[in-house]
Amino acid sequence: MRLRNGNSPTLANPSGSMMTVLVTGGAGFLGSHLCERLIGEGHEVVCLDNFDTGRSANVEHLMAGPRFHLVAHDILSPVPEGLPRFDRIYNLACPASPVHYQRDPVKTALICSQGTLNALERARRDEARLLHASTSEIYGDPELHPQPEHYRGNVNTVGPRSCYDEGKRFAETLVTDFARQAGLTARIVRIFNTYGPRMQFDDGRVVSNFIVQALQGAPLTIYGDGSQTRSFCYVDDLIEGLVRTMASGAEVDRPVNLGNPEEYRVRDLAERIVAMTGSSSTIVHMPLPVDDPRRRRPDISRATRLLGWRPVTPLATGLEATIEEFSTRLAQGRRPVRQPLPAMAYG
Ligand code: NAD
Ligand code: UDP
Repeated sequence: MRLRNGNSPTLANPSGSMMTVLVTGGAGFLGSHLCERLIGEGHEVVCLDNFDTGRSANVEHLMAGPRFHLVAHDILSPVPEGLPRFDRIYNLACPASPVHYQRDPVKTALICSQGTLNALERARRDEARLLHASTSEIYGDPELHPQPEHYRGNVNTVGPRSCYDEGKRFAETLVTDFARQAGLTARIVRIFNTYGPRMQFDDGRVVSNFIVQALQGAPLTIYGDGSQTRSFCYVDDLIEGLVRTMASGAEVDRPVNLGNPEEYRVRDLAERIVAMTGSSSTIVHMPLPVDDPRRRRPDISRATRLLGWRPVTPLATGLEATIEEFSTRLAQGRRPVRQPLPAMAYG
């Protein structure tokens, strides 16, 4: 176990409502925004990450503070001894974009199973409450639209996305059964496509690809004819949903969808980003990846009813903030950029 900033975590829960919180995958896109939010609320935060798809740069602005601790660790091994007792555990560690989770699909499946079990074991030992990050991918290529939580999905068990889709489905079962058996308080959120600052340039996701391509004047790569749809949630709204779900009562003992119900065609997103960046980029079409869902849109009535949550950031506002942060990072040359290609794009 290594603490990257040399701070020594306090061993007791600070007084009042301040808590000691573990965020697995905390140096990733969502994890870094969550750490920032929790630090802002005055909590002590331990961010555990193996930097597989995350970067310490995502949390370096938090490192100087005495309540933030960065631990280099792979969740396939038990959460290290020597860390404080946790009140809350957010289990986010897992590659999330197709190019990343398909790079080592066996490891992805294991992160969902063994990795989740390790987070659960630590929650049991510390009597912590655990929130697990599941995904809209558990619905597969949905036959029911929009997707409510009671929909059981349409997932290929042996396709290129299965390590993630089925892995996350298994993780939901594991979290639910473990919580029942161990008397643990656990929450499961099904996160729909989320975007915002600090997404990786080359994670292959549609928003990051299109913004990087538009800013560099390269052609925007639409897979298929671009008529497939997604619903895009701005990261701040999503983090609000995570925090509310973690704080929720027993009525939220089943999975809850978190996402923005506004649905867009991929080709409309491309046109919007070209217009917003003032880019001269053209559009090229590439093969649609295998098992690429045709439509996706969350039914968030459960989150709205039980958590009083709904996204408040319009797509234009969220994209503007994201484009600005991407421009700054590109100008700083923070990372060499290559043109991303679709994962498993069999014609
Ligand atoms: P991300 O790839 O940016 O973050 C994942 C983090 O987990 C990274 O920092 C990575 O280094 C870390 N990690 C991966 N494997 C690990 C391991 N074995 N041990 C320790 N750390 C490990 O992805 P994200 O978008 O921030 O996603 C976070 C979580 O939210 C994931 O569980 C993902 O499945 C879920 N999710 C995200 C979205 C989205 O749109 N961003 C949608 C649905 C679900
Ligand atoms: N997509 C695209 N061009 C790209 C990247 C993605 O047309 O450069 C499409 C992709 O095929 C999918 C949608 O955009 O239909 C969303 O892809 P992403 O990987 O962002 O999310 P996911 O498929 O996991 O929902």
